[in-house]
Amino acid sequence: MVNGNNLDKRRKLPAVQTIWRSLPNSLPVAAFWISRAIDRVLNRMREQAKMGVEPPDLDKVCVEILEEAQREARSHLRPVLNATGVMIHTNLGRSPLPGEIMDAVKDVAMGYSTLEYDLERGQRGSRHDHVAHVLAQLVEAEAAMVVNNNAAAVLLALSALARQKEVIVSRGELVEIGGSFRIPEVMALSGACLREVGATNKTHARDYVSAITENTGLLLKVHQSNFRVIGFTTAVTTSELVEVGHRYGIPVMEDLGSGVINSLDIDHVSEPSVKEVIKAGVDLVTFSGDKLLGGPQAGIVAGKRDIIEQLKKYPLARAIRVDKMTLTALEQTIRWYLEDRASELPLWQMMNQTADQLSQRARLFVEALASRVPSSVVIDRQKDYSQIGGGSMPGTRIPTTVIRLIPSRTDEVRVLDESLRRGNPPVIARISHGAVIFDLRTIFPSQESLLLDTIVMALHQLEGRD
Ligand SMILES: *Cc1c(COP(=O)(O)O)cnc(C)c1O
Repeated sequence: MVNGNNLDKRRKLPAVQTIWRSLPNSLPVAAFWISRAIDRVLNRMREQAKMGVEPPDLDKVCVEILEEAQREARSHLRPVLNATGVMIHTNLGRSPLPGEIMDAVKDVAMGYSTLEYDLERGQRGSRHDHVAHVLAQLVEAEAAMVVNNNAAAVLLALSALARQKEVIVSRGELVEIGGSFRIPEVMALSGACLREVGATNKTHARDYVSAITENTGLLLKVHQSNFRVIGFTTAVTTSELVEVGHRYGIPVMEDLGSGVINSLDIDHVSEPSVKEVIKAGVDLVTFSGDKLLGGPQAGIVAGKRDIIEQLKKYPLARAIRVDKMTLTALEQTIRWYLEDRASELPLWQMMNQTADQLSQRARLFVEALASRVPSSVVIDRQKDYSQIGGGSMPGTRIPTTVIRLIPSRTDEVRVLDESLRRGNPPVIARISHGAVIFDLRTIFPSQESLLLDTIVMALHQLEGRD
């Protein structure tokens, strides 16, 4: 392939030193990223020259290098605008945290703290104490502890309480959550032996009773977080299971998942609250910190004091412990609940917006957008539904008004969506029926103008494409 002519073209590529000299004196990013970008851009042009492509002039080469360097210098984990209307979006980081709580995190993280220090006694303390105290008050449990996430909480409980023993679970509750958390697999990992009872749609208290042997370590109830079985169904209630457990002296655990603190009733779907489950008498309950609690990623275990003590002492607890930043954010989140300030948490602010408020926001947004975009794109509003997400309350429809952008050609929908994802900040929207859809429920009012600018930019790119 390489002929004399193409060698000439390669020779026309600027030398690295020439490029450095031609770049602006004050570089927009660290030299490290520039030198990486120089290597990559030159390599690319060398390859292209082999194919007979004429190298661009020096100015163009420099522009390309600066663009590439800036892209690479940007943090890989970065903020996005979530216009999907899915509030606990696992792929987008679940619950957002408020500035005031992050200030507390910053204070603790930027200096030393009482993480494992008891101020009163002047000696070593426990990192479990900070949250345990307020958490136990909030959910009215004897004791509580916190680990990395709910999956870890379930693994810890099964390992510490039922290793080499049998755990009885209903066949209707052998759930998979988010593709990577499956009850049978977590069970296998913990060394506990799964003893399935009942049928997919029906399980009775007597099914648990007849499966109990002297090797039974735990009765487990798992909340059907991300699906519903409807029709001819029976499940054993928490109280019924507790009654069986007490009768045979076997601990009862419920993996609740979402962890609603105050009972929640939306669209005729209600989610059992942690308090209710504790009150029903379970020995322990597990739930996530970043689902309906609206706090940081964490796994919370609450229940009977002796069981929590047993879990704290189990060696695995050390491997899945949380850091000081999470503990601070979680302690603050729980304090906001105790102080009746939960409605100020971003998750609950999003959740509590009414259909009227969202319709009004969408109307103003469409007006602002229509005055700035090419007329070939249709912009309108439509009644739709937001979702909770995070495997919480599936099928719950929360009324909203969405904004729709309908390009003149259907193939432009994907192009527009891609261009939005490449925006700065990236915008994550939904695609449905030939339109790109934005739900303002998950956009903070303070982010609206940023969203507007990014959409305008993406639409102009679409216009300029052909
Ligand atoms: C979400 C969920 C989990 C996993 O929780 P993570 O905090 O994501 O680890 C486990 N069990 C149930 C029932 C859940 O809903």
